[in-house]
Amino acid sequence: MIIVLKPHSAPEKEAELRQYVQDLGFTVQDIAGESTHMLGLAGDTSHLSPETFSRYDIVDHTIKVRESYKLANRRFHPEDTVIRIGDKTLGDGSLAVIAGPCSVESEEQILSIARDVANSGASFLRGGAFKPRSSPYAFQGMGMDGLDLLRIARRKTGLPIVTELMDNAHLDAFEKHVDVIQIGARNMQNFSLLREVGRLKKPILLKRGLANSIDELLMAAEYLMAGGSHDIALCERGIRTFETATRNTLDLSAVPVLKAKTHLPVVVDPSHGTGHWNLVEPMALAAVAAGADGLIIEVHNAPHLALCDGAQSITPEVFHTLMQKLHRVHDAVRMD
Ligand code: PEP
Ligand code: MN
Repeated sequence: MIIVLKPHSAPEKEAELRQYVQDLGFTVQDIAGESTHMLGLAGDTSHLSPETFSRYDIVDHTIKVRESYKLANRRFHPEDTVIRIGDKTLGDGSLAVIAGPCSVESEEQILSIARDVANSGASFLRGGAFKPRSSPYAFQGMGMDGLDLLRIARRKTGLPIVTELMDNAHLDAFEKHVDVIQIGARNMQNFSLLREVGRLKKPILLKRGLANSIDELLMAAEYLMAGGSHDIALCERGIRTFETATRNTLDLSAVPVLKAKTHLPVVVDPSHGTGHWNLVEPMALAAVAAGADGLIIEVHNAPHLALCDGAQSITPEVFHTLMQKLHRVHDAVRMD
């Protein structure tokens, strides 16, 4: 629910109303319009009616928000969320590119790729240390050793690190050492994990589940935000459809749909979205044209030897050329 206040309401009356709302168990979010001031109420507001607030004469009217996500809703927060990590940004109108291998495989591998993508203009380094593999016999990632190698790569290149958390047992290590915590597609609705990660209040990259709707993705973001996190980026990474020509069907319409529904930055993953390295470039360019704030791209120095997702990984050379094309599309579509 949104409470629209009358113009020029007395601050002490407003404080009284806020206290009442908080006593009812809701979180209050300020929504400042051009000439109006509104209070957004997060929590289960289904039982509230306009009469609940009628004794406060500073209340002009109330608006019921139909969607179950509140804190992630653009109506509660009209201006875009911008995530800042050092001098790197996501969501401020620039194009943020997260690049790196699917998995960290060795010190030599991650350092070589990290240096290459940094030189080509990537702003974040990706690399899985804990991997969610469909087969229990497939490479499961280097675990904590992989995390240590990512930290070395960050130190040598200055790129903040983005890596996937799969287990509550690793919360402390991720809180200490990771810049952006990735919640993978398979864990998008792991609500106990979302609750715990949300409490860390760290930047999070939340990937859309393999068979989840856009509203379910927003609700997963709401779990993180209800825990106190604000810096959340949503990632479209392809969904399961009847189509078999690609690994997943990259739903690029999710970009403008999400941009309208939420203030959170939107990232597109053309690597998992297609499963084929030669489709990464066209879909990355299309994602930028569709208004994505960022991309996450798998880059490997020897894709044919990669322990995970080699078929969808591009080489540093292909990445370098792609970066130049991406900036040209980005410049072409932005208004300023
Ligand atoms: C990944 O980014 O390597 C990954 C496993 O992604 P997703 O969760 O989208 O499958
Ligand atoms: Mn991968």
